[in-house]
Amino acid sequence: MRKLDENWFTEVAAEAGSAFSLRLTAAGRIHEERTPYQLIEVYETEHFGRLLTIDGFVMLTERDNFLYHEMMSHPALYTHPAPRRVLIIGGGDCGTLREVLRHPEVESARQVEIDERVTRVSERFFPQLCEANSDPRAHLEFGDGIRFVKEAPAAGFDVIIVDSTDPIGPAAGLFSQAFYADCLRALDANGILVAQSESPLLHQKLLLSMHTALRGAGFLDIAVLNFPQPVYPSGWWSATMACKDAPLTGFREEDAREKPFPTRYYNAGIHTASMAAPEFLYQALAGTGPA
Ligand code: SAM
Repeated sequence: MRKLDENWFTEVAAEAGSAFSLRLTAAGRIHEERTPYQLIEVYETEHFGRLLTIDGFVMLTERDNFLYHEMMSHPALYTHPAPRRVLIIGGGDCGTLREVLRHPEVESARQVEIDERVTRVSERFFPQLCEANSDPRAHLEFGDGIRFVKEAPAAGFDVIIVDSTDPIGPAAGLFSQAFYADCLRALDANGILVAQSESPLLHQKLLLSMHTALRGAGFLDIAVLNFPQPVYPSGWWSATMACKDAPLTGFREEDAREKPFPTRYYNAGIHTASMAAPEFLYQALAGTGPA
């Protein structure tokens, strides 16, 4: 049995009986602060660049965050026929916001993050993720996303992206039927919601409860987007996409093929492939197999 020396960051996934470690440079932890909401830390790793954690859980690394941020944004934006008004809930590191603003048809991207310090720490330690923050179409607000959506006027957004932490603490309500019902109301015709939905391998119960809550809230159609995310538990992650009133049967494939901006993971082929679910997930979500 190999024991790790002290210069590693380790996240334990207690529910999976597993752990994931990244070797740190001599600099180790380069930032630590406790906010009214959570503990934010930044580390220098040897092979994954800088690492951002919240309450000891990996949020992102410089090396592989493109997988998550591209999949949280481009499939939903290329599914909506004309995404002009986008709302991001959470997403304080601003990586999703940067991807959203690559779409020229987006006229306004509003981000509501509960903890301003996540954004300020990201601006300092992950400036590349925040490079679109000064785009005149970007509107950064700091407050509770649950309350924001509850009070938002009806039909004000085309796409809502829920880029949240795990369903504990202030993020727990972001996985509830009441929140999804408020999102449905805040979405205009053809509206799309996409929410990070944890690991298909480890968190099928959560995925099932999200599906039940989304259907209960009145969303017409739901699809799971699968993608690799090496630094999250199991290395396999998902986003769940739901549409207000049009079936999720296709996307603007031609536009995705000719996208006027560079990506490192997303393309039209990945879009299609990410929506193919493994058999065990179909069964778990249909209630015909174990969740
Ligand atoms: N990619 C990350 C992951 O899945 O591990 C999530 C990144 S992002 C940093 C998540 C953000 O959601 C955090 O900055 C957190 O402060 C924010 N958040 C949690 N609950 C929230 C709420 N109720 N309203 C708005 N933002 C919230």
